[in-house]
Amino acid sequence: MNDILGADAARWRTVLGCTREVIESYGYGEIWLPLLEKTELFHRSIGAVTDIVEKEMYTFDDRNGDSLTLRPEGTAGVVRAFIQNGLHRAGPQRLWMSGPMFRHERPQAGRYRQFHQFSVEAMGMEGPDIDAELIAMGAALWKRLGIDDALTLELNSLGTPESRATYRAALTDYLRGFEDALDDDSRRRLGSNPMRVLDSKNPALADIINGAPQLPDYLDDASKQHFDGVRERLDALGIAYTLNPRLVRGLDYYSRTVFEWVTDRLGAQNAVCSGGRYDGLVEQLGGQATPAVGFGLGIERMVALVEQAEASDGFAPQVYLAALGEAAEAQAPLLAEQLRDHGRGLRVQLNAGGGSFKAQLKRADRCGAAFAVILGDNEVQTGQATVKPLRSDAAQETVAQSQLSDFIRERLRGDSP
Ligand code: ATP
Ligand code: MG
Repeated sequence: MNDILGADAARWRTVLGCTREVIESYGYGEIWLPLLEKTELFHRSIGAVTDIVEKEMYTFDDRNGDSLTLRPEGTAGVVRAFIQNGLHRAGPQRLWMSGPMFRHERPQAGRYRQFHQFSVEAMGMEGPDIDAELIAMGAALWKRLGIDDALTLELNSLGTPESRATYRAALTDYLRGFEDALDDDSRRRLGSNPMRVLDSKNPALADIINGAPQLPDYLDDASKQHFDGVRERLDALGIAYTLNPRLVRGLDYYSRTVFEWVTDRLGAQNAVCSGGRYDGLVEQLGGQATPAVGFGLGIERMVALVEQAEASDGFAPQVYLAALGEAAEAQAPLLAEQLRDHGRGLRVQLNAGGGSFKAQLKRADRCGAAFAVILGDNEVQTGQATVKPLRSDAAQETVAQSQLSDFIRERLRGDSP
């Protein structure tokens, strides 16, 4: 469990601010939930034969003798709240929450006992469009944080409980043939939850796992169609992914689409954001049948990637000032000085040697700046400047020159204006 101090606390603030802003820009509303839930909730949702429930939960009896657990993840609590508050009556819901999660894991870099997640959930929508939306939200966030080059997307479909049962039988048959070679955990799971063997991180089992029957070969038609729908939408959005037939996720409640954003920059801990569909969970926990999909995002790992990105381009300018036309070229050096003066350490690179709009923007992009500030003769006349974000799809904005440094500072901090 970590204290977060000094520069780290500032970095957290930035990352939390950006993440909230991106999530809310997709129309998701914030909810707050208790840290404690009845232990039973996690048994019934995450599943009894999972790492989390078997060995990672902080569980205790309170003064009434009720068994309570510090939440190890967010989705179970969101579903409990959805049911308890009758939210299904209000139509489809897009919800998010964030905060600490607790798992008694073996501590190591990137794996903590109190860690923090964003949990983003879309309830009551069954089509592939919403799966794609959640994935696109992740992609937009990585871009916004400047870590999109560190993350790749893995995708799979788990099908329905029925198609999975057929697969499970085939997998169990296969794994029985290797019973002696399995480790204790896997042997035990063979009887109770064989798909969890595929999720094993024991390198000694890699060959056995690689040779196992593959889930996508057992998908039912409707799940196949749904999965094709997700893929088409990702293709249309230009979001690249790798199909990973062995991605089964460590929690029992998933069905159909599952995905994971992974990185190779954080050592053994490669998952930054993981999610999928859980169409059966609301009903299973006593609510009205409601399709749902969501993801959990590990904040520590996201912050670590942002820190690495900062370290690698720590001296890059933050602003590239482009000037077009004689009047603008004459004024640009003054505006650059003003930005450096008022911007408290703002790193501003001023275009030199003229060039077309396109050429100047190309330089701006290459130098690593977060923003291009564009000054044309028009802007000189009105006392304004155009600010174009270079690392996100956000729209460009026109800002009074007198407000420019504050505006850019705010944007760099990730606060909404
Ligand atoms: P892993 O494979 O790393 O154990 P997981 O499958 O247990 O991850 P989820 O339960 O899906 O993870 O949680 C979602 C995200 O929360 C993960 O992608 C990861 O970024 C983060 N996370 C999970 N456990 C921890 C932990 N102990 N410390 C820090 N971050 C964590
Ligand atoms: Mg885990």
